[in-house]
Amino acid sequence: MTGQQGNVFKEIVARKKELAGKVLILCHHYQHEDVFQFADLTGDSLKLARQAAESGEYPYIIFCGVHFMAESADILTGADQAVILPDLQAGCPMADMATAEEVAAAWDELASVCAGQAVIPVTYVNSSARIKAFVGNRGGSVCTSSNAERVLAWALKKGEKVFFFPDEHLGRNSSKALGFADDEIVVWQRGKKLGGNSVQQLRQARTILWNGYCHVHQEFLVGQIHDWRRQIPGIKIIVHPECPWEVVSEADMSGSTERIIAAVQESAVGASWAIGTEANLVNRLQRQHPDKTIRLLAQTPCTCGTMSRITPANLLWVLDNLAQKKVVNQISVDAKIAAGARLALDRMLEI
Ligand code: SF4
Repeated sequence: MTGQQGNVFKEIVARKKELAGKVLILCHHYQHEDVFQFADLTGDSLKLARQAAESGEYPYIIFCGVHFMAESADILTGADQAVILPDLQAGCPMADMATAEEVAAAWDELASVCAGQAVIPVTYVNSSARIKAFVGNRGGSVCTSSNAERVLAWALKKGEKVFFFPDEHLGRNSSKALGFADDEIVVWQRGKKLGGNSVQQLRQARTILWNGYCHVHQEFLVGQIHDWRRQIPGIKIIVHPECPWEVVSEADMSGSTERIIAAVQESAVGASWAIGTEANLVNRLQRQHPDKTIRLLAQTPCTCGTMSRITPANLLWVLDNLAQKKVVNQISVDAKIAAGARLALDRMLEI
C-alpha cells in the first residue's frame, strides 16, 4: 500500500463514520480488496438485489458493482433512496451483448415462425433494465446464476419454449441440468436471419439461447481441469455456470459465487480446490482459508476489467460529495421501464 493509498483509505473510513446511518455500501464479490474492505454488505447479484430491497432506512446506496446491478437496486429501492455507481463506465460487457432493440426484433421474428406456441422470455440478471422490462411485460422473469434452473422450469410450465437472454452458457447449463437433449436447445446468433436457425429447429426447440457470454468465464477450459487433477490428486474443481458446458460438465461442481464460497467454507481442513470464477474472489478465498489449497483454475489473471473501474478514489469522491449533500453518479431508471423490470424481478423473487 502506498502512502497516498493509505490516505485515501483513512479518508473513506472518516467519511463513512460521518455519514453513518445514511449511506449503505453494497459490494459484489468480484471487487478488488481495496474497495471490498469498505463494504457494509457483500454478495452476488441475487443477494445484493435482496439487500437493496431491504435497505429502506438508508437514503443513499453506493453500489460497488456494475451498471445493471445498480439499475436493479434502483428498481427495488424506494423513491426517496438514491443509488450511486462510483464510475458510470462500470458496465458488464455480457449485458451489453443484448440491446432492447435487437431483442425486440428477434422476438418478432421468432413469433412469426412459432405461431401457436407460447414463448416465455427469461433474462439473466446481467442485462439492462430495458431488457428486464421487455421480459416483465411479456410474462417472463429474471433469473440469476443461483436460480436459473428453477426459473427455467417455472417458465416451461407456463409455455412451450423459453427465449433466454443474454448468456448462452448459463442458459445451456441450466437446460442440460433439466435434462434437455441437444436438439431441444438452439442458439440465436445476433444479426442472422432467424438467429441462424431453420424454422423447424426453432419450432422444436425448448430453449432458445441468445449468444452472449462473459469473457472472464470463457477463459476456463477443460484442459486446465485435467492439468490440476494431474498436479494435485484429489483436488475438487468448482466453476461458475457462466463457463461453457464442456467445462461445467467436466468439473466436480458448479454454482453461483455464493455457492462457491459455501463449498469452500464447508470443506474439510486440507481440502484442495481449483476454482473457475473471477480472480478477486478466488484470491480472497485463498487468504480466508490458509488451511486449504485454493487455486484459480486458469493461469491467466481472469479479472473483470469493468468491475474494477470502481476504485477507492472514486468511492471517496462519491462520499465526499454526499458529505456536502451532493449526489453524483446517481442511477435512475425511467419509471415506465422500472415498472416492467420490477414485474420480472418480483417474479424471480417469488419463484
Ligand atoms: S464477470 Fe463477466 S458477467 Fe460479471 S460483470 Fe464482469 S463481464 Fe459481466
